[in-house]
Amino acid sequence: MVKINQNFARLPQSYLFSDIAHRVDAYAAAHPHQKVIRMGIGDVTLPLPCAVVDALKSASSEMGSKETFHGYGPEQGYPFLREAIVEYYRREMGVVLKPEEILVSDGSKSDVGNIVDLFSPDNTVLIPDPVYPVYRDTNIMSGRKIVYISADSHNAFLPLPDPSVKVDLIYLCSPNNPTGAVYTKDQLAQWVAYAHEQEAILLFDAAYERFISDPALPRSIFQIPGARECAIEFCSLSKTAGFTGMRCGYTVIPMELSFPGPLGEPISLNKMWVRRQTTKFNGVSYVTQRAAQSVFTPEGLEACDKNIHYYRENSQMICSLLAKKKIEFYGGAHSPYIWLRCPGEMSSWDFFDFLLENAAVVGTPGSGFGKNGEGFFRLTAFGSRENTAEAMERLSPLL
Ligand code: PLP
Repeated sequence: MVKINQNFARLPQSYLFSDIAHRVDAYAAAHPHQKVIRMGIGDVTLPLPCAVVDALKSASSEMGSKETFHGYGPEQGYPFLREAIVEYYRREMGVVLKPEEILVSDGSKSDVGNIVDLFSPDNTVLIPDPVYPVYRDTNIMSGRKIVYISADSHNAFLPLPDPSVKVDLIYLCSPNNPTGAVYTKDQLAQWVAYAHEQEAILLFDAAYERFISDPALPRSIFQIPGARECAIEFCSLSKTAGFTGMRCGYTVIPMELSFPGPLGEPISLNKMWVRRQTTKFNGVSYVTQRAAQSVFTPEGLEACDKNIHYYRENSQMICSLLAKKKIEFYGGAHSPYIWLRCPGEMSSWDFFDFLLENAAVVGTPGSGFGKNGEGFFRLTAFGSRENTAEAMERLSPLL
């Protein structure tokens, strides 16, 4: 008889977004004339920049002509996109990469989830709590031991390494989902030093790097000396360029990363990833990759920044109300997420119900992201200006 992967039974039941939908539907049915403002889901709302739409149109035309049609492309991404990304890192962050180190995919959720294929199930994994649930769930599915490190108000949701804790894989996300907290260079340097001491790999999720507006804050782990010898970086065009519905991201695996194989011979993680992708993935569509290439042109980046600025102004509106009401909060400055302590010691779900019932505003209960999220709440800045302003007007008398 077939034996199923028993690790799936160890996954925590994920009712977060279905519970939210259920409660919102019940509210909407009972209050059919009340407009519900959704500030819970981390999806963008502004349309794609014109430069991207132009690139999509012209690549689509190429696909319709015998001379310029493209079939299967290279699984790791077309050279034109990999080179554009190398140039982006060089120009924007002073980071020198090789095109072979950039591995293009259909988004960073897939890569963050699939990277575990490269590592033995008997590695121990360090994951901050609260966290983007993909890190936790993919490691539970593959049966790895997880050690959690507490992110909480004592460390401003930016935990630092504890040298007495022995681990092999370390997940970090900065700017963070859900807390919006951002590590400084000095703090990331401590994580890089820890990864070296432990001979561990640091898996760095930079999906929100473009929301960082302070040039002193690191946008890539490779801005930290020594990171090329211990880190892999995941990046996404979803929030940078509004690609949530387009699907494109990339992972950077430096050539320096190699570890002993079965006979003690060095095996490159980059080569292992290429082997994995060529076996299980057939690449991102030509049209999408041309659109992604256009993101990295001066016009593309300018248009993306304009959209990010729009979301940033929404964040400022939310943060200024919270500051005025003296509510403890994190994030918002370099992130589309604002993470606040529920007033009056309410639990995350009590505050969710309170906002829904009294303001028809929907957010995400922090407890859905881990045990340290209890008593906290996530609002996102991805809504329209009008809705964000209206939500703040409704919240103001309640807080
Ligand atoms: N990493 C983090 C921290 C995220 O919040 C998200 C999406 O919300 C992703 C990765 C996934 O991004 P993508 O749309 O590229 O799969």
